[in-house]
Amino acid sequence: MTKMEVKTSLLDDMIGVGDMVLLEPLTEDSFIQNLKNRFDRDEIYTYIGSVVISINPYRSLPIYTADKVEEYRNRNFYELSPHVYALADEAYRSLRDQDRDQCILITGESGAGKTEASKLVMSYVAAVCGKGAEVNKVKEQLLQSNPVLEAFGNAKTVRNDNSSRFGKYMDIEFDFKGDPLGGVISNYLLEKSRVVRQPRGERNFHIFYQLLSGASDDLLKKLMLERNFFKYNYLSLDCAVVNGLDDAANFRSVRNAMQIVGFMESEVHSVLELVAAVLKLGNIEFKSESRVDGFDESRVKDKNDLKEMCELLGIDQLILERAFSVRTVEAKQEKVSTTLNVAQAYYARDALAKNLYSRLFSWLVTRVNESIKAQTKAQKKVMGVLDIYGFEIFEDNSFEQFIINYCNEKLQQIFIELTLREEQEEYVREGIEWTNIEYFNNAMICDLIENNKNGILAMLDEECLRPGNVSDETFLDKLNTVCAKHQCFESCHSKNSKFLTDRSLPRNCFRIQHYAGKVLYRVEGFVDKNNNLLYRDLSQAMYKANHSLIKLLFPEGEPSKVNLKRPPTVGSQFKASVGTLMRNLQTKNPNYIRCIKPNDKKAARLFTEMLVCHQVRYLGLMENVRVRRAGYAFRQPYEPCLERYKMLCKQTWPQWRGPAREGVEVLLTSLQIPKEEFSYGHTKIFIRNPRTLFTLELKRKQ
Ligand code: ATP
Ligand code: MG
Repeated sequence: MTKMEVKTSLLDDMIGVGDMVLLEPLTEDSFIQNLKNRFDRDEIYTYIGSVVISINPYRSLPIYTADKVEEYRNRNFYELSPHVYALADEAYRSLRDQDRDQCILITGESGAGKTEASKLVMSYVAAVCGKGAEVNKVKEQLLQSNPVLEAFGNAKTVRNDNSSRFGKYMDIEFDFKGDPLGGVISNYLLEKSRVVRQPRGERNFHIFYQLLSGASDDLLKKLMLERNFFKYNYLSLDCAVVNGLDDAANFRSVRNAMQIVGFMESEVHSVLELVAAVLKLGNIEFKSESRVDGFDESRVKDKNDLKEMCELLGIDQLILERAFSVRTVEAKQEKVSTTLNVAQAYYARDALAKNLYSRLFSWLVTRVNESIKAQTKAQKKVMGVLDIYGFEIFEDNSFEQFIINYCNEKLQQIFIELTLREEQEEYVREGIEWTNIEYFNNAMICDLIENNKNGILAMLDEECLRPGNVSDETFLDKLNTVCAKHQCFESCHSKNSKFLTDRSLPRNCFRIQHYAGKVLYRVEGFVDKNNNLLYRDLSQAMYKANHSLIKLLFPEGEPSKVNLKRPPTVGSQFKASVGTLMRNLQTKNPNYIRCIKPNDKKAARLFTEMLVCHQVRYLGLMENVRVRRAGYAFRQPYEPCLERYKMLCKQTWPQWRGPAREGVEVLLTSLQIPKEEFSYGHTKIFIRNPRTLFTLELKRKQ
């Protein structure tokens, strides 16, 4: 070691290298091996410069205690072993002291630990910011919004027992001192198809099981429910009980959380009535009845569930019953009634259940926002935390996966833009010599999906809005003609793609080469799910309910609102909200947590190298290290740099009279730090190695 080098926790051989920027030699093998060495010693966090890699330990480690919080509080990022707390601390201090709005971007596939990481960031920030009764109330409400939304928006899936089935972005707002004022949550497309059907080995949303397990006998009676999962069609039976999940206890926590967040008892009851109503709705069955005119019409089989559902929601039973048999279409001031057959009645039932639940979920978010809203109009500093559903590749992928993966694609793009491209461009701007690093740019995949003219979403919308005979097949035909030449797209008719080499494409499918891998999408249901139409008779029946919450959820059912404009499609809404999100993120200083899943078994102490390697590749982590290494770990404008370290040199202390850049030069030369450690940009000093920065920090403290 040279005398300038300090042995830091980042370089400790015992537990591998804490910052991949310092890894020697740097190869994919050594990268993975380093992660494994650290993981085996319970060091689940590793840096790439300021990016935190987090590997899911699948067991609770004693590294999130109050003592740990104290340890990381107000410490330099590179001073201690890598930890998500260090990132949270850095982001918070930058927000508080430098007035820079922050965002924490957490990415990784399903089960990699994003939601846990987001909660760790939130709890860390809550622990270190502000004090006093009022501030504590705000913090408590912000933190308790998590269990509420998780109960309604998360579910057990094959990949994750607590999988987020919605995207969530939360802005935490602070005053000028850095005390929390409140927050705003945005939610992105709940996977509502889960309400009526779940893939094998998966469950419906947690709240259904929590309610049936945890509600008192009295409450169940009021909700006309039985404490038996097997009674309800909408609940998957093969995995109703999940090892390690205590639904009953969680139900109590959720109710407690709702109370802390500020829900009134009557509101909680209304919400649970809706949950119960969805279960009842799923039990309504239909039979076919021949009419005198020879047509078959659907009829409700056993009316008990229908009756109870209507009682719960204050709905006129006859109106709802009729809405399951007849559909009214209003065209040119004329009302035309057509009968529903049994299949259409089931379709209508499920559409209603999905709408009821997803609208309830959106209402919950709005309601939480009302409570946690900052009570001041004063200027706020903002820390945004983004936790979305991770990239998904199943055997059978549908519209939901398409949407989820599109969102992940956009996030990867912003990661590329901000860390890789922006990094390279900054060197050019600052006049620093730079050799280009090749990286995979996923912009063309985003374009394939979202291009306004010929992107997949635009094609889907065109099909949905086109009069005439429209089906998933006509949508696929359209894709085949329009996207056939795109090199990340392949369907049964297009075989000329560059990336896609597997020719065995099933019918009714198309395949996209995502940044994280190839995904095969089955088109079945795309048109319908994008349309998201609810028969008008059903929304009217809901609007007429004598139940304030239900009424609120179906405003389009108001009879005077005939001939409403067609609601925007699901895809176009999603695209717009993702676009807004991306623009918002770009205005903030990004902090990245890249989550990695160590195995497919949800098992502790198991590190499957192949699996990790795949994630390291598609997350672009090697490129990330190379860019950091080729470049400089740290940069700062000259003035603040001089201000911070001027005390280390006689010539600059107490005041340097010349230009700041020259001052910094004098300072660094006097400290005898090797020349190759620095580059002088037009406005900033660039420091190659985090250790150098650490040395400077140490000297300041001596
Ligand atoms: P999805 O995209 O499906 O929502 P996710 O990335 O949000 O997945 P999490 O729900 O955060 O995944 O993590 C899955 C599970 O892994 C958690 O329920 C928890 O059991 C475990 N886990 C994740 N991170 C940690 C951690 N830091 N310490 C202990 N256990 C963890
Ligand atoms: Mg999650």
